[in-house]
Amino acid sequence: MPELPEVETIVSDLRPHLVGRTIVSCDLLFPTIVRHPEPELFIDSVAGMHIESVGRRGKFILIGLGDGLLLVVHLGMTGQLRLVDPATPLQNHTHAVFSLDDGRHLRYRDPRRFGRLLLGTEEDLLSSKKMPRLGPEPIDPGFLAEELYRRLHKRRTALKAVLLDQAAIAGVGNIYADESLHRAGLRPDRIAGTVSRKKAQKLHESLRDSLRTAIENRGSSVDTYRDAWGKIGGQQEKLLVYGRAGEPCFTCGRPLSMIRIAGRSTVFCRHCQR
Ligand SMILES: [Zn+2]
Repeated sequence: MPELPEVETIVSDLRPHLVGRTIVSCDLLFPTIVRHPEPELFIDSVAGMHIESVGRRGKFILIGLGDGLLLVVHLGMTGQLRLVDPATPLQNHTHAVFSLDDGRHLRYRDPRRFGRLLLGTEEDLLSSKKMPRLGPEPIDPGFLAEELYRRLHKRRTALKAVLLDQAAIAGVGNIYADESLHRAGLRPDRIAGTVSRKKAQKLHESLRDSLRTAIENRGSSVDTYRDAWGKIGGQQEKLLVYGRAGEPCFTCGRPLSMIRIAGRSTVFCRHCQR
């Protein structure tokens, strides 16, 4: 599933190409990929809109269309948002095609269809519960270690489950939760509230390092993730624990363990993480 670094890569690639463009029309090949408003209204509303901004909040892509209106894309498990020449053959599982005034196509493709497209103002999407309320952005300079400590301190659940909770911290998923907990030397199944202020500081640093390094390497293509040009990322070869259950820990050489937390497979080192 694309997480913060993968979504950030797509957003920063698309921004210089989309800002200033106008959406001429939209074709929905699988209309129910639009969750808000009704697909017909969605098509009518985006046509003729000018793209003013391209941003990200958590794992959500936010395309600003003026007057506070946002075209929101969530990639779900297997979503891909690509900018292509219109002559590019339509791939199967393409659900939406936006034709731009420079002749190019912005295409949304999603084999497993867990992704979604939304259109509305932020208030409208939040109050209708089409978009969840999200916690702070972990790579934001204003997100301090003390804030992470406070958010962990009040929780009686597994540490990893808090990192995955989008209302606690936005944008972190299975890959970067496992990676940052390993870097911080913290067990994923430890109760979040037992993490000391000092350890929370270490986790804050590890989390930001893991996410920033992954952004520099253009994300992790562990399964179907592709950037806006259809290319794979570079971080998947540099992951320390994710996807390496049973393989030796790079620090101590002992085999990495796998457990399930919050329904997600979780890889860690029983020796290096406490
Ligand atoms: Zn180890």
